[in-house]
Amino acid sequence: MLEPKAFAARGLRVCVETPLREWARLAAVDEAGDVSAQRVRVDVRFQPDANGAPLLEGEIGFRLGCLCQRCLEPLALDLVARPKLFFGAGNELGPSAAAAGFEHCEPEPGVTLRQLLEDEALLSIPVFPVHERSEDCGTLADELAALEPADGGQKSSSPFAVLAELKRKN
Ligand SMILES: [Zn+2]
Repeated sequence: MLEPKAFAARGLRVCVETPLREWARLAAVDEAGDVSAQRVRVDVRFQPDANGAPLLEGEIGFRLGCLCQRCLEPLALDLVARPKLFFGAGNELGPSAAAAGFEHCEPEPGVTLRQLLEDEALLSIPVFPVHERSEDCGTLADELAALEPADGGQKSSSPFAVLAELKRKN
């Protein structure tokens, strides 16, 4: 159970690496279809601010497979969410904490720390993921076009499988 006050009083730091499949909502967004090898790295810390109100700060890092919205080819996104949450009353968030990027957070009753961190991780996913460099767009189609048709005409079901196959050949 999430208890920001108690966690902050203890200066709780959570530093773990866990399989992506344990994060159901994050894993559901992954389009690579093979979440077994993927990990989520969490390093967050609770501490009290100058007035004793709980703060949470840190990083949640993960890799997500998605489709580039420009060329519709597979894209691996390395994402890092950097939550900066303030759990005091909304009007207690001081100007310095606000300037440092802290946001007021009022968790739903019964929410767990993992659910809260998963929310933060989900927020870091771009709405419109595209290859960082536009010249990386469409390379899979180019490579496929350059390939001889495979013997037996086997078709691959997923673009990720095609990509893995190309990487294996290179
Ligand atoms: Zn692209």
